[in-house]
Amino acid sequence: MTEKIFWINPYQTELASTVVEILNNKIKLSATIFYAESGGQESDAGTIGRVKVIKAEKDGKSIIYTLESIPDFEVGDEVLCVINWTRRYALMKLHFAAEVVLELFTQNYPSINKIGAHISENKSRIDFDWPENINSLLPDIQKKAQALIDSDLNIESDFIDRVDERRYWKVEGFAKVSCGGTHLKKTSEVGNIKLKRKNIGKGKERVEITIAQ
Ligand SMILES: [Zn+2]
Repeated sequence: MTEKIFWINPYQTELASTVVEILNNKIKLSATIFYAESGGQESDAGTIGRVKVIKAEKDGKSIIYTLESIPDFEVGDEVLCVINWTRRYALMKLHFAAEVVLELFTQNYPSINKIGAHISENKSRIDFDWPENINSLLPDIQKKAQALIDSDLNIESDFIDRVDERRYWKVEGFAKVSCGGTHLKKTSEVGNIKLKRKNIGKGKERVEITIAQ
């Protein structure tokens, strides 16, 4: 099992950790701050022992990191894990913005069905099963989402089940949602969001979320 410091402190950008496994250019650490793609949130970018990580993937409760080259460190060595904070913080903002938007759609239109979601560094998107052009719903959802963000509320996140590593986030008076992503401390950290519809085919509606720089 890899100890996931990105849950305990999602704002930590460097961590000294012990190498527990090496197979060619694939390694495992005892503890990590380097997120591996899950729940639609992309992996972090960064280095381990000064070698660039080209892939991070979940392997049960562990995370396997594929390095750009075979490392010169060994099992048992302590190495420095460094993540690209600009990218991670952008992912955290867009991830939470998407969660607020999805929650508002679900609360206001109980029959709506999410069929997909993805969070990248520049925008997030949510795909819905919805029979009409979703454009008419966007101004109201955007207004409500921005109001919640601007309220500067605390975002609590913790384990639902520590053994199974299931997590949640909660904003008092708004929602409690299961999610294994990395979460902000305050809603206001998101900034100013913008929603836009994209046509992706009959009966499917995509909502893209961006943040004003
Ligand atoms: Zn989340």
